[in-house]
Amino acid sequence: MLDKFLKDAMSVIIGKQGEDIVNLLDTKKYINEFLIAKKLNITINQTRNLLYKLSDSGLVSSTRKKDKKKGWYTYFWKIEVLKSLQFYRDILSKKIEQLQNFIKSRETKQFYACERCNVEYTEENALARNFICEECGSVFTLKDNRKFIENLKKDLDKVDKLAKTVDEEIQEEKNKIGKKREKENKKEEKEKKEARRVKLEAKRRKVKREKRKEEKAKGIIPIKPKKIAKKSSKKR
Ligand SMILES: [Zn+2]
Repeated sequence: MLDKFLKDAMSVIIGKQGEDIVNLLDTKKYINEFLIAKKLNITINQTRNLLYKLSDSGLVSSTRKKDKKKGWYTYFWKIEVLKSLQFYRDILSKKIEQLQNFIKSRETKQFYACERCNVEYTEENALARNFICEECGSVFTLKDNRKFIENLKKDLDKVDKLAKTVDEEIQEEKNKIGKKREKENKKEEKEKKEARRVKLEAKRRKVKREKRKEEKAKGIIPIKPKKIAKKSSKKR
């Protein structure tokens, strides 16, 4: 499902090549753009153009690496799943709104048509033409919109259901990101704790060292019996 949503989202921006891009890119690791160009069998500039268009809307992101010998940059790309899903969801929202307006208009207004020329007019415009077609002179007939409205409602239902599935997918992705962040935070916390411990230990040692120095200066040299014993045993 996710794969299809991603493809649909990309295709809104770059057409059919959106499907290829989803097939070639990854959602986790970055892919070398030269590899993408080779697989798409287009030039590197054409490839970049496609990817720039997608990245303008946040559907893909990139990281670059400088080629030390040639001095140019190579870009590496990956799919931004959450952004892509949200982009797709926005499009569906617009479609839903459009359909709702369309249905409302058909339910509340009357439309007239010339059946011969297959054109239709709002009541206002039909009245302005005295209900007679300017092209062929036929009298307009009142359009029966029931079937039309029924179909629109079916379409609306379909888009509504699709939007709900996309919402679920968005939620899943957010959960995934949340878990990942939690894991990273835990790791960071652990590292901080360890750094604190090391720092504290170093400080403790320093204090000990200074104390020893001080005692030496005062002439109170602390004697560690075991060590002394070892050394003396070696000498013998
Ligand atoms: Zn006509």
